[in-house]
Amino acid sequence: MLKIKDIKKSFGKKEVLKGISTIFPEKKTTVIVGPSGSGKTTLLRSLDLLVKPDFGIIEFDDLKINFSEPFTNKTANALRDKTSMVFQNWNLFPNLTILQNITEAPIYVQKVNKTTANKQAHELLTEVGLDEYADAYPSELSGGQQQRISICRALAVKPEYILLDEPTSALDPEMETQVLEMLERLSDQGQSMIMVTHNMQFAKNAADKILFIENGKADFDGTKDEFFSTSSPRVKEFLHGIS
Ligand code: ADP
Repeated sequence: MLKIKDIKKSFGKKEVLKGISTIFPEKKTTVIVGPSGSGKTTLLRSLDLLVKPDFGIIEFDDLKINFSEPFTNKTANALRDKTSMVFQNWNLFPNLTILQNITEAPIYVQKVNKTTANKQAHELLTEVGLDEYADAYPSELSGGQQQRISICRALAVKPEYILLDEPTSALDPEMETQVLEMLERLSDQGQSMIMVTHNMQFAKNAADKILFIENGKADFDGTKDEFFSTSSPRVKEFLHGIS
């Protein structure tokens, strides 16, 4: 299980994360919500060490980094390997086919043999109904299809958790629905997920846990039912503002 304790991060003089502690339960979907600029993306990126916190602890089972103490690249890489990030704008490699995009990391980073990697990629593509595009290039696919491929790419390395940073914010509503349906299925299948989103319908449908970040702090940390029935005036105001 992934745990964080008192994570702090500043950019220059601006303290963006002011000491966040929580756990991200395994096989559950944690949704991170909150106003723009509150630190959600910085928190998510900290989990993948794309952002290096200044202070605090990230722990995954027996792996632990205390950012106040030296740690080895080996530990950092081992922790990084537990997660796989899906970006807002999918970031597929334009010069590689869909199949190559998905098998790149398994083959060249994880040293999985090519036949096995291709087979697994076809299975993922079949599951999302996109296997017919295996040999196409990203530019031949719609944004929603490309984002679904980028989720397959994240799953292909078999991470413990997939991390998603507003995965549908660049999509029109119809494509957003396709991607959210895929994510809801993954959530139902027990894939551990941590997702930053403004989509409250997704949170209602799929979240097990909600973290409400405001001004670099976790102002709410609890179940979906607690969140949507909370008496916290600030959460109510937030929900009212985006509905
Ligand atoms: P959110 O995801 O909630 O919109 P972010 O984590 O993206 O918030 O950003 C929180 C604050 O940190 C913002 O004020 C943003 O401008 C600032 N910030 C984020 N990343 C950087 C960076 N690499 N350098 C400087 N400031 C940053």
